[in-house]
Amino acid sequence: MSRPMRQRLLFHVAALLLAISTAPEAFSIPPQIRNSLASMQETHRKYYQEFTDDLNALILFCEGKTLEEAVLQIRLRLVPLDTESAKLPALPHETQEDSPLRLNSDNRYWQTQLRHHQKEYAKKLFLLSRRALKDNPSYAYQLVREAAIHDPDHRQLRKVLGFVQLGNEWMTPFAYDQIKKGNEWHEHYGWIPKNQLERIAAGERNFKGSWVSSAKENELRRNFSDGWQIRTDHYLIKTNYSLERGVELGKSLEEFHEFFNETFASFFNTPEQMKKLFDETARSVRLDARPYCIHYYRSREEYLNRLKKQFPTIEQTNGVYMTNDRVVHFYHEPNATNEGTLFHEATHQLFFESQGQSRPIGEQAHFWIIEGIACYMESFICQNGVVTVGDPKYIRFCRARANLLSEKNHYLPLRLFAGWGMKEFQHSPDLTKNYAQASGLARFLMHYENGRYRESLVAQLTSLYSGDVRVRENTKGLDLLTGVDYEELDRQYIDDSRQLERSVMNPWTESFFAFSRMSWSKRLLIPVLDGWFRTEQRSYPESVSEWTWHVRVAPLESHL
Ligand SMILES: [Zn+2]
Repeated sequence: MSRPMRQRLLFHVAALLLAISTAPEAFSIPPQIRNSLASMQETHRKYYQEFTDDLNALILFCEGKTLEEAVLQIRLRLVPLDTESAKLPALPHETQEDSPLRLNSDNRYWQTQLRHHQKEYAKKLFLLSRRALKDNPSYAYQLVREAAIHDPDHRQLRKVLGFVQLGNEWMTPFAYDQIKKGNEWHEHYGWIPKNQLERIAAGERNFKGSWVSSAKENELRRNFSDGWQIRTDHYLIKTNYSLERGVELGKSLEEFHEFFNETFASFFNTPEQMKKLFDETARSVRLDARPYCIHYYRSREEYLNRLKKQFPTIEQTNGVYMTNDRVVHFYHEPNATNEGTLFHEATHQLFFESQGQSRPIGEQAHFWIIEGIACYMESFICQNGVVTVGDPKYIRFCRARANLLSEKNHYLPLRLFAGWGMKEFQHSPDLTKNYAQASGLARFLMHYENGRYRESLVAQLTSLYSGDVRVRENTKGLDLLTGVDYEELDRQYIDDSRQLERSVMNPWTESFFAFSRMSWSKRLLIPVLDGWFRTEQRSYPESVSEWTWHVRVAPLESHL
């Protein structure tokens, strides 16, 4: 369950480009060391540096020939390696065309060279991904995804990422199936029969086989059981709010699902399945039979009324994933997109429905990570196909640092925190602080030292959600899974939080934060600031709105 979606803060992460060269001896060291995450990341950076050098040489050539457009095009291909957040452009839907014959020799040269360098780089990344498969499957997926940006028509890369080809387009098996059935995807109305497109575009709607006006349809579908049903690749969204909003949610959920699947690859696939997926002889991807179900109600009132019987404390929630009916329930909220809530609940759903049977999760210990990882995934943002997750400015991470680094210093040592089962976690008097700490720790384990602990965290989740009760009850602690004792993990987390705080805050905001810790200052300063900005008819600068936002929203935050 989660709290409302909050205003997103702009996130600027300076891409961290480390040009570390790898000595040739690296390839003569034993495979277990050679294949460690750190060593593969170093090789990755080396490949990236070589690729950058090649492209820079090509840029020099184009500048010499005053081919300005070419320089821009080549620069666009230098997608920086971003270790702090996942930021990758969307893959093209259409297959690439060969360079037209009418091009002059200079233009033909740079285009051919660019494609050659990109393909070579993609080839190296794919080979590296196969080495990463066994111990670092999520990283392997990341490499495949990056490789596909540079060689988008590489069949094997596309297959691993779950695409099939139809004519000159790449698509998912579900879309392939829809097209074969005579349907077409419409940006606002979703999948609809091709032969109905014209009438729908003219404002008519098909309601249970009869054509009615769109206004009439809106009225008829107010009753939830007659609401719209939007089917996407992996989801079924039922809503009585609007078709267009349902389709919009479907698109967001698919972007989320794609990222989720890549990030938690080893959760959903055994090592054998992963190997098969990367193996050229393996079958193509399968269609998921049962979609994940989402209910989106017209209003909060309807949400509360429908669920209060099953869930007496529903009033305290803004969204819920019910394990008995396997449905995520949430609602339309004017002036808020509520997507953070959606991604939080969708995370619970994706993990839980990895197994057919109902089962208790984290009942005896390690419950914090169940909520922590859902809070972490709330920070997912996809804009124009570019994904960002783990923004250190996201409210929950800020809250975690504020609790940890303030004078009161609320932090439960990981050894103690990890020992808690669901009841201890949920019935603790400091529930809000538990959520904040769980969010901060989950972010730390996903990002620290370029994802050093990511696979250990995924291994723990895999065990906690296992269908086998013995596996669940014998879930190993993060100390054993990471090989680092709890006290050292505590120390690393605290140091990391301090560093993040320094990098996130500018001095102006920092001084206001210090000031705001004195409770009287909030009451005094916010009305003064509000009044001044209103009379001046100005909007808050980013740093001010950030501060007031923290002071106003964060203390209200509760999470049940
Ligand atoms: Zn939750």
